[in-house]
Amino acid sequence: MILRLILGDQLNHQHSWYDAQRNDVLYVMMEMRQETDYVAHHVQKVVAFFAAMRAFAEHLRDHNHAVFYFALDHPENQQTLAENLRFVINQHKVTHFEYQLPDEFRLDEQLLDFCESLPFTSQGVDSEHFLSERGELARFFTGKKTYLMESFYRMMRKKHNVLMDGKEPATGQWNYDADNRKTLPKNHQPIAPLLFERDVSDLLNLLEKQGVATIGNIDPTAFIWPVTRPEGLEMLRFFTESCLPYFGTFQDAMIPGGWSLYHSRLSFLMNAKILHPLEVISAAVAEWQKRPDVVAYAQVEGFVRQIIGWREYMRGVYWAKMPDYKSLNFFGHTRKLPEWFWTGRTKMNCLKDAIGQSLDYAYAHHIQRLMITGNFALLAGVHPDELDAWYLGIYIDAIEWVEITNTRGMSQFADGGIVGTKPYVSSANYIDKMSHHCGGCFYDKTQKIGPKACPFNALYWHFYDRHQDKLERNPRIGMMYQTWKKMNPETKAQIIAQAETNLARLDEL
Ligand SMILES: Cc1cc2nc3c(=O)[nH]c(=O)nc-3n(C[C@H](O)[C@H](O)[C@H](O)COP(=O)(O)OP(=O)(O)OC[C@H]3O[C@@H](n4cnc5c(N)ncnc54)[C@H](O)[C@@H]3O)c2cc1C
Repeated sequence: MILRLILGDQLNHQHSWYDAQRNDVLYVMMEMRQETDYVAHHVQKVVAFFAAMRAFAEHLRDHNHAVFYFALDHPENQQTLAENLRFVINQHKVTHFEYQLPDEFRLDEQLLDFCESLPFTSQGVDSEHFLSERGELARFFTGKKTYLMESFYRMMRKKHNVLMDGKEPATGQWNYDADNRKTLPKNHQPIAPLLFERDVSDLLNLLEKQGVATIGNIDPTAFIWPVTRPEGLEMLRFFTESCLPYFGTFQDAMIPGGWSLYHSRLSFLMNAKILHPLEVISAAVAEWQKRPDVVAYAQVEGFVRQIIGWREYMRGVYWAKMPDYKSLNFFGHTRKLPEWFWTGRTKMNCLKDAIGQSLDYAYAHHIQRLMITGNFALLAGVHPDELDAWYLGIYIDAIEWVEITNTRGMSQFADGGIVGTKPYVSSANYIDKMSHHCGGCFYDKTQKIGPKACPFNALYWHFYDRHQDKLERNPRIGMMYQTWKKMNPETKAQIIAQAETNLARLDEL
């Protein structure tokens, strides 16, 4: 008997493993405390993974594949990968073990150790999901300190012949990012998101009975996220038909209550491998080809760049830099996350909204993650470990390979500039420009000093001031220091004092 392991984020219906039905192959899948407990996860994240795994096991059985499934409360479930594998190996006459290469470093190590301990042969095979190999980015940037996403993106476009005309970009221009930064007009009504309504009461009872600690909210009888392949395809269709025409234009926009706007919400489906990145890209390109008058090229290029560019790039950085990446802390930040990161109870409207919706939906879009929660935490000097645990727990799409590179790298600049060329920080100015949050806020976006001053303003200058030795020579930041130096010394002292007051009472902001 050959035993093949399918991890919870390896739900790839099109994998070549399933091309042939074989009666000498047993597939094994497992719900485990090892995976539910390494951080406090959002309840919707745990439910989404378990529901998707169960649906995938059903799909395999329907196609006459043999599956051994450890539910969380299976009497023989030892709750760890190696022990469960040993149990199945002892029960069945297993003579060979196969697994798809995992995307997380810790699982990779566990599986390598496990295979070494086996008295028979084993093999790790490709998960047939990503568009680049694990080590491809490292090879592409050999000898470079900074890994410029744009050059990797262009290479990937050429390699997969996406939006290309021979060796040149289809329209003569590679990147339309500059067209994609519009704020939403005041009276704009964004489209209502497509929501599913799955009854997940059984799974919730299971989690409760087993004492799995989770965060966030959920509707037990109307779970909104797609977890099967037909549902995933429906979500993809909804995105290309209804959201893609506005995707790029309003990609960075934020409005109160507009929790997903024109974003695709396909990250969970792709990260669990239910959808393949090429089929997602192809659907978007096909929509542009079908309706070029409705779907402008800039929208499609912007979307394609996120997937063939950023997503593959982050995975490449992960494999190039782990395990050291996990402990990088360039600024030496040490603070704890404010309590309201777990409740949303803050007087800052933008943070209340971003955190509140994260607790309600296990989702926030990129700019909310980067320029609201991430921005605040970086200005406040929060330890990147605290941030990793929060981002890894709260978002439905959070898997370490893509969470840590975005959090430590892009958002916190804790890698000292491997992913980003400068830290993503802003004062209230940017938030006001891109959102409708500041108008009704308790704090005043225009003030730097005083009890009503928006905390982002003083913290912004405090950040630059305290890290001057590390940032002043960065050519993309030099200008900020010119402005800071020219400021009246008395005002500067007041700003620093205001920031210190804010930092001393973060929980009350
Ligand atoms: C601090 C921080 C933490 C993040 N953590 C995660 C995470 O745990 N998991 C995750 O999948 N993404 C993460 N991202 C990236 C991005 O925010 C999410 O992929 C995106 O918000 C998912 O929503 P969507 O599917 O609606 O994306 P859309 O805006 O519709 O974008 C389409 C797709 O592009 C890909 N994509 C876009 N930006 C990125 C990026 N920076 N890195 C990788 N892929 C990207 C995603 O697969 C996404 O589904 C994080 C970003 C930040 C700033």
